[in-house]
Amino acid sequence: MAVTRTFSIIKPDATRRNLTGAVTAKLEEAGLRVVASKRIQMSQAQAEGFYAVHKERPFFGELVSFMVSGPVVVQVLEGEDAVKRNRDIMGATNPKDAADGTIRKLFAESIEANSVHGSDSEENAAIEIAFFFKPEEIVG
Ligand code: GDP
Repeated sequence: MAVTRTFSIIKPDATRRNLTGAVTAKLEEAGLRVVASKRIQMSQAQAEGFYAVHKERPFFGELVSFMVSGPVVVQVLEGEDAVKRNRDIMGATNPKDAADGTIRKLFAESIEANSVHGSDSEENAAIEIAFFFKPEEIVG
């Protein structure tokens, strides 16, 4: 299996509860390596741009407001089959449906405040990584 990269966000509900380390530990236990990481306050324009794919969905405004409600930690993760590996340890979007041991089952507050974002394909991972990181900020 090839070593690939994916993009992760530790969302405001998790940074507010001081869970950056706890979430990152779950990612590392799952075989992912943090090869870039920074804590940022997303602007409204950044959040709207990042989630543009969801702009027709009824929760778009709420989602953008949530994502700018506090700091987030954006990360690039590396590992074998990184996109799937990260989606597996994240768990289902709604924590009520998330499997035991997943980040969302352990930590998420709601379907919106669900602690983590993870790219859903390698193509989107590349786009999302480039949205937040310059190549020289990623050190594998
Ligand atoms: P993900 O890939 O598992 O993060 O899920 P989606 O791509 O479907 O949704 C993106 C994000 O929008 C989710 O992680 C949630 O933060 C939020 N979200 C998804 N569904 C809902 C919803 O029904 N209501 C609200 N308020 N937020 C939602």
